[in-house]
Amino acid sequence: MTILLLGSGGREHAFAWKMIQSPLCDTLFVAPGNAGTAAIANNININPTDFPAIKDFVLKEKVEMVVVGPEDPLVKGIYDFFLNDADLKEIPVIGPSTIGAQLEGSKEFAKEFLFRHNIPTAAYDSFTAETVEQGCQFLETLQPPYVLKADGLAAGKGVLIIQDLAEAKEELRNMLVHQKFGSASAKVVIEEFLDGIELSCFVLTDGKSYKILPTAKDYKRIGEGDTGLNTGGMGAVSPVPYVDAILMEKIESRIVKPTINGFQKDGIPYKGFVFIGLINVKGEPIVIEYNVRMGDPETEVVIPRLKTDLVELFLAVANEKLDQIALEVDQRSATTIMVVSGGYPEEFEKGKVITGLENITDSIVFHAGTKLENNQVVSNGGRVLTVTSYGDNFEEAIKKSYQNIAKLQFDKMYFRRDIGNDLK
Ligand code: AMP
Repeated sequence: MTILLLGSGGREHAFAWKMIQSPLCDTLFVAPGNAGTAAIANNININPTDFPAIKDFVLKEKVEMVVVGPEDPLVKGIYDFFLNDADLKEIPVIGPSTIGAQLEGSKEFAKEFLFRHNIPTAAYDSFTAETVEQGCQFLETLQPPYVLKADGLAAGKGVLIIQDLAEAKEELRNMLVHQKFGSASAKVVIEEFLDGIELSCFVLTDGKSYKILPTAKDYKRIGEGDTGLNTGGMGAVSPVPYVDAILMEKIESRIVKPTINGFQKDGIPYKGFVFIGLINVKGEPIVIEYNVRMGDPETEVVIPRLKTDLVELFLAVANEKLDQIALEVDQRSATTIMVVSGGYPEEFEKGKVITGLENITDSIVFHAGTKLENNQVVSNGGRVLTVTSYGDNFEEAIKKSYQNIAKLQFDKMYFRRDIGNDLK
């Protein structure tokens, strides 16, 4: 098969790494990709949201399947774009329909879906600029901290958790009236605060049946001890030692099954990944968000633990035959540690030459923000690359990743040295 993968992060490098291992994959294109995908596939310089350019390319190269990494093209409607085009409609897109992608594209849509299908989630209400005063009154009925969520996509920054009532009201006005997050905060969901441990559940579905993928935990904050600003993710561990069979059973029966059944009841076509963000409140899993794609860097530990052919899985998703495939999982642990540009997630410099990549042994380097320049790999983003290792337990895997990171160098490189410490 000729396959086109959209995206350019560590997640897409991990997908590419796995897909090219499949005998079903003859040619893999990545748009736009990075230096890591360039080494194993064919990068093409197309923006993943430029649908007309994607169409031209798909027809020219006879692409037979499109796999979508990030949320942007999904929320902008790539699935429906293919389905509604006479020349493209036979070519499967791995990802949800436009309406399905609203589970990530609109917090209010997600909350309505959760309530409609009786899936456990925090109490909420939503407000617009016209109802900002009612929003302030609603805040008064809640206990602190207050959770304010911009309805639309806000590059992972649209959720505010605020201790003080007066400050929460002011931020609500900033979001609704002063468009703090642009049109993404034209509507704001105010939600009850949930106190517990966060975890994620990754599901692949063909819209009817589903496979629950290995569990993973990521590390969001830039600083050690989970301090400082939020990032895209500084590392990940799979499996998560504190997720036991009892909790998984609750997640599957109360959340995963009703979600997939909800797609069917609502007539939502969904052929792709569902990433369910949860908080475990005293043993009870409660949904805080849906994402309509895999997490990054969780993909860089989940995909290496899959023994099943990923292209075969995607084909089964496209053909609604996922129930006919067994998911085989490597019993070893996998960990990944993200190496970032100094300054990230604030100001940072790009174009730093990365050395030592050829010295990596017994780990996999997935590239994120990198590119090739004069035959050298240079940094091209905040998150630059991530080092994934296997081990009989997560401690062993983490040790390997750190040993290999020590061989890498670029100006102002930074990584957290405490990934996994909280699990010991
Ligand atoms: P979201 O984008 O909805 O996942 O929110 C981003 C982060 O805010 C989550 O990863 C949680 O840490 C936190 N969060 C979101 N909703 C809640 C809630 N209802 N209670 C406590 N923390 C929350």
